[in-house]
Amino acid sequence: MHKRVYFFGEGTAEGGAEQAALLGGKGANLAEMSRIGVPVPAGFTITTAACNEFTAAGGSLPDGLVDEIREHLARVEAAMGARFGDPAQPLLLSVRSGARRSMPGMMDSVLDLGLNETVVRGLAARTGNPRFAWDTYRRFLHMYADVVHGLGRDDDAFERMLDHARREAGARDDLGLDAAALEALCGRYREYVASALGHPLPDAPLDQLLAAVAAVFRSWNNDRAVAYRAMYGIPDDWGTAANVQAMVYGNLGDDCATGVAFTRDPATGERRFFGEYLVNAQGEDVVAGVRTPAPVPDPDDGDPTSMQRRMPQAYRELVDVQARLEAHFRDMQDIEFTVQQGRLWILQTRSGKRTGFAAIRIAVEMVDEGLIDARTAVARVDPEAVTHLLRPVFDADAKAAAEADGRVLARGLPAGPGAAAGRIALTARDAVAMAQSGERVLLVRQDTSADDIRGMQAAEGVLTARGGMTSHAAVVGRQMGKVCVVGCGDLEPDPAGGAVTVNGRRFAAGEWLSLDGFTGEVIAAELPTRPSDVLQVLFEGRDASDAPGYERFARLMAWADELRRLGVRANADQGGQARQAVTLGAQGIGLCRTEHMFFGDGKIGPMRRAILAEDADERARALDALLALQRADFAELFRACDGLPVTVRMLDPPLHEFLPRGDGDVAALASELGWEPARLAARIEALRESNPMLGHRGCRLGITRPDITAMQTRAILEAALDARAAGVRVHPEIMIPLVAFPSELDDQARVVRAQAAQVMAERGERIDFDVGTMIELPRAALVADDIARSAEFFSFGTNDLTQTTLGMSRDDIGPVLEHYRTAGLLASDPFQHLDEAGVGALVRIAVEKGRATRPDLAVGICGEHGGDPASVDFCHRAGLDYVSCSPLRVPVARLAAAQAAVREDGAD
Ligand code: PEP
Ligand code: MG
Repeated sequence: MHKRVYFFGEGTAEGGAEQAALLGGKGANLAEMSRIGVPVPAGFTITTAACNEFTAAGGSLPDGLVDEIREHLARVEAAMGARFGDPAQPLLLSVRSGARRSMPGMMDSVLDLGLNETVVRGLAARTGNPRFAWDTYRRFLHMYADVVHGLGRDDDAFERMLDHARREAGARDDLGLDAAALEALCGRYREYVASALGHPLPDAPLDQLLAAVAAVFRSWNNDRAVAYRAMYGIPDDWGTAANVQAMVYGNLGDDCATGVAFTRDPATGERRFFGEYLVNAQGEDVVAGVRTPAPVPDPDDGDPTSMQRRMPQAYRELVDVQARLEAHFRDMQDIEFTVQQGRLWILQTRSGKRTGFAAIRIAVEMVDEGLIDARTAVARVDPEAVTHLLRPVFDADAKAAAEADGRVLARGLPAGPGAAAGRIALTARDAVAMAQSGERVLLVRQDTSADDIRGMQAAEGVLTARGGMTSHAAVVGRQMGKVCVVGCGDLEPDPAGGAVTVNGRRFAAGEWLSLDGFTGEVIAAELPTRPSDVLQVLFEGRDASDAPGYERFARLMAWADELRRLGVRANADQGGQARQAVTLGAQGIGLCRTEHMFFGDGKIGPMRRAILAEDADERARALDALLALQRADFAELFRACDGLPVTVRMLDPPLHEFLPRGDGDVAALASELGWEPARLAARIEALRESNPMLGHRGCRLGITRPDITAMQTRAILEAALDARAAGVRVHPEIMIPLVAFPSELDDQARVVRAQAAQVMAERGERIDFDVGTMIELPRAALVADDIARSAEFFSFGTNDLTQTTLGMSRDDIGPVLEHYRTAGLLASDPFQHLDEAGVGALVRIAVEKGRATRPDLAVGICGEHGGDPASVDFCHRAGLDYVSCSPLRVPVARLAAAQAAVREDGAD
């Protein structure tokens, strides 16, 4: 029989850090800590495999597991010198969830297992603290009834009984309830549970333990966990481990405490030990953000509430342990600890969540410190993290003016850097609704919980009244890259009243606030923003030497460039975009959508004339006007990409997109053209299609209107020749869209080459250029060997390839996909993350067939997937030469491409 339970404690362990898949991240690290002599309370981990067996068996614990648990329980009892269920020397246990990757707050835990009416009295006698014993029993009854049986969730029954007891005792808070009051309250809890369930909660400790393990396993599939997995692409079949561990208490008196610490600052990445703790409290109190905690290291050499001052001995030990943990795990650690009667226990360590700023700083500085190598640094930074450094910051003048006007209302803790302005939303649901209607939103809450996840995702920034730097809002908001200000004590959100009061000023939902995530300031204004430090150095000539954030970014990117094998180009249609892309590291333009060039001022008119023209002469005149405009635009692209390839795609969109829609616009255009409105309306009607995405677009347009292809070819090559004459090194690539049949490409390639020959003859000089095609229809992928006879390069248009492979309209399918995702039918949106099994299979076929015909065929991707790290990884594995993405995603793609190479090399 395979082993399902792994012991840790007393300086030994059956597992280790490398077993996160089997033991979960938390379990693996508990084992590792125990091994290296860090003081962890003894316990054991039940594997993720056992969770999957449990789920597969419809929710029953696998055979043999109970015996294994009993055996390991005996080892824990021996290690802790206490016994589970023994009133003379009671051992209490916790059961906590812990998946391979941390999913903060999404799954369940049950604490204080092993209590009943007899043991609680033993605990009171043993600790000499009956109040603590009964309070623990009360917490246990509530948590067990909630997690195992779902009691009290909808009716707040436990909170109401607690409130009632408080009122009876005339107490302001829980601490005002004495042992007798708590004992009476436990009696009420038990009666309530017995009547709600029809039977009492089990008194037998082992029964409690097994039910709690089952509940933790079940929580892998609760709604929150499923939604979180969908959001972060965590596979459903990983399962969670259950960590069973001896309880230690931070709430036995004033020589007890509980806290959370980071080995470096999770917001900025600065190398300084940093943490928060609460005296005489339970661990959950810190994370829940209900009491605002005190600092661990004394921040200003004079804070008497700091742990450094109040508990110097435990503090020194903690400083020593955190240094050992960081050196051992070679990453910034997020550590949970408890001090029980002066003795330090470490409950958990894990790689700490961090902002993009912190991720890059920590990775680069750890290379400088010799802790990790550049390859590890590159592999470790989430590619999305670099986007945090490209986000705007507040315009300094506007911010100073707001300060001078007294519009800085309050200051909280700066938990997530950046600048955000938005309208106030007081509930997660409102935040989602407002964001869906296109508003920028700030989610303003007392504190946040797992139920706020979707609202946080929808918001630009999150502001809370309570909680510290390690509260839920801070940890989750930071990871999402949200601007985040927490623990702002001057804030009183009143969701029921539809308003929030900040320092005495009332703001209704929907009013504007700005949040400065670097300073924690809350500002009564919609402040304008400016480019980030990195963008200022790159684009505004700011001196790099006074922008350390830029220098770290540049070093990380340079390491990534050395490691990656995929090229990275950009999708850009204008000179400004192209210059931006090249500055951000693009190695050329992978897609210029020429139709986007016509949306600019003054260009739509000639385009409309060309579409509407009713005879050849009229159309020729309109195309001539377009030629001049396009030539100038292309020349700008070539100049921006000196020495780099520029792929220009022939006109693609359905024609009706260029035509006016409402009656007023039709009348205006008619008068501009000098046409009768009725004639124009009839012409527009004739061009209307019921399914334009599958209609007269792509190469079909150039095939039916070869003069458009010819005009564009001329514009591209004349622009290239002009640029070359001015000293620019040009590499034009002409790309034919939406090809399904090789004959379509042949037709268009003929038109292009004939026009090119004419241009060269007129100019009396040669220019090299390639003609290639997009592969964006399944048929094209399947006959790619034939297509490659005429195509000198392929570029996968995975937007259309996804649309046509799945038969899902890219413009209409959003709400359906959202439903699929929440219902668990699809793990991710295939328009965001490439559908590897379906669309990916077509890509692989096309690469193989294309290269069979033409071994040196250059192959890229220019659909939106080109900037998505998971899809970039696929492109690397599928042997593509480059990805092309929007300009601001270029650094993301460079890093993702490097990680793909590191991953592949690591697997050799
Ligand atoms: C594509 O289909 O992936 C593509 C890049 O072209 P467009 O998005 O313009 O249709
Ligand atoms: Mg397309």
